[in-house]
Amino acid sequence: MQRLTRQRNAVFSAFSDAGRVLTAPQILAHAREIVPEISLSTVYRQVSLLLADGEIAKVELPGEPARYEVACKPAAHGQPGHGDSHADHHHHYFHCSSCGQVYLLHSCPGPMDDLAPKGFQVKSHEVTLHGICASCAGAETTGKGRAGKSH
Ligand SMILES: [Zn+2]
Ligand SMILES: [Zn+2]
Ligand SMILES: [Zn+2]
Repeated sequence: MQRLTRQRNAVFSAFSDAGRVLTAPQILAHAREIVPEISLSTVYRQVSLLLADGEIAKVELPGEPARYEVACKPAAHGQPGHGDSHADHHHHYFHCSSCGQVYLLHSCPGPMDDLAPKGFQVKSHEVTLHGICASCAGAETTGKGRAGKSH
């Protein structure tokens, strides 16, 4: 039991930084810092348990491996009017084309009914922003950690 709790905590703590959306191998890399003997199959098992408990949610972006995020409690947002039920709150993502990391966006541009042709009913939408994340943008401007040409 003790061991299982440690593994679960190791897996869950990978998400401790706000806005982290992780693939199973990324979770494994983090969990290994806490429980060195943890295996990928253990990570998958813990992930499916956490999914079943509603602690984390699956993120599927087109052409990308499955990722996982901490399930968001709407109350934690402190955004009145953003919807009381969990169903009203959904996420969008920022995909960094430099490091490949996916970041969670809690804000939503709102209903997009206007984009659809007249008479169409919009039921849901997905928004993924593509670009360079802050840490990659920083690395680019300072030139640190990059083996690129200097001109
Ligand atoms: Zn990046
Ligand atoms: Zn959220
Ligand atoms: Zn939205």
